Amino acid sequence: MKKQRICIVGDGLSGLMTALALNKLEGLEVQLISRKNKHSKDRRTTAISASNYEFFNKVIDKLNKKLFWPSKKIDLFYETKDQNMNFLNFNEDSKNLMYVFENNKIKEILINEIKKKKIKTLQKNINDLKDLDGNDIKILCLGRSSKIYQSIVDKRSLNKDYKEIAITGYVKHNLKNLNTAQYFLKEGPLAILPFSKNNFSFVWSVNKDFPTKDINSIVKSKISKVLKTNKILISNQQSYPLMLNLKRTYYKNDILILGEGLHTVHPVAGQGFNLVLRDINKLQKIFKYYTELGMSLKSTPALEEFTSNRKSENIITGIGIDLTHNFFKQNKLLNPFKETILKNISKNDTLKKISKFISNQGLSI
Ligand SMILES: Cc1cc2nc3c(=O)[nH]c(=O)nc-3n(C[C@H](O)[C@H](O)[C@H](O)COP(=O)(O)OP(=O)(O)OC[C@H]3O[C@@H](n4cnc5c(N)ncnc54)[C@H](O)[C@@H]3O)c2cc1C
Repeated sequence: MKKQRICIVGDGLSGLMTALALNKLEGLEVQLISRKNKHSKDRRTTAISASNYEFFNKVIDKLNKKLFWPSKKIDLFYETKDQNMNFLNFNEDSKNLMYVFENNKIKEILINEIKKKKIKTLQKNINDLKDLDGNDIKILCLGRSSKIYQSIVDKRSLNKDYKEIAITGYVKHNLKNLNTAQYFLKEGPLAILPFSKNNFSFVWSVNKDFPTKDINSIVKSKISKVLKTNKILISNQQSYPLMLNLKRTYYKNDILILGEGLHTVHPVAGQGFNLVLRDINKLQKIFKYYTELGMSLKSTPALEEFTSNRKSENIITGIGIDLTHNFFKQNKLLNPFKETILKNISKNDTLKKISKFISNQGLSI
């Protein structure tokens, strides 16, 4: 039987992983289209759950495990009047809770794997969907805000501008046994994500009116205060505007949206790419089922099945993250009660187990 042609547009983490995952299936001929002009470097790290790390291992042969820094412990702190109160700890003795990787290094690994597997690639800026004619299924991984999505989406998306930015960067340090941590500070949540013995990355979400003058020294003094050390060296500082966008339409005819274009969420819970990986995992399973039956994907309800499988989890998680973000936001009336609520959360083992399970497996298990 003639191979079915799948084209994937966009070479961010979502597009690269989708190309590799679908290329594993017999009967599909995958092509990856990326932009002609290379974009600026992505100097962030990404935290993924243990189950998504397993998926990475299934998709990439002989994955270099050294590029994924494991974490057995996650500490959560809330800034009160006179201290950072440690209100919740997640820990596992026997297995890892999550893994942190540097986006640039993993993109390089994925691109090399694409070359190794001889997946067809094409450099072209796609401005018109007609450019993709001739493919059986077209998958758009164009990031959070491509205008091209407008011709696919008919229902209104759930949208919110957080009017915040995430300041990100790398920190060199000589602290011993630094854990992954989230500090809910007055200015906004600060995530500390170790990715090697003496390096961690941070994501600090703050109001977009945050003073840009002297921003480097403000960030340095805040991190020094939180970690109680001045011996840190910050590099690769960048900032990203923050928004919530949850699409309600996932596909039209034979064109599917995937990645940040389907769901852009606040980074406070580090869930954006985790949701994408669960989407790709599910899409691979659905496509496998139909191709093994010898069916043409175009004439099956594969994209509808994908939508009904993934949409509710993506929307519920996105809204859950938004509620978490709102809870920790400064609010004069609520602030006095938060300390009491958080002290009680730490005593609730069931809640801890549920949140650990959901952040690893998602909601649709
Ligand atoms: C500050 C921050 C921290 C984060 N931390 C985490 C975390 O710890 N854990 C987690 O799970 N998630 C995290 N995320 C989310 C995660 O970064 C994204 O989900 C992930 O990068 C996937 O992006 P993407 O590939 O869908 O989009 P992008 O990276 O935006 O890629 C889109 C690609 O499409 C290409 N493109 C666009 N238009 C065209 C066109 N017309 N023709 C051809 N190509 C085109 C672009 O060049 C680009 O390569 C974070 C997000 C932010 C903002």
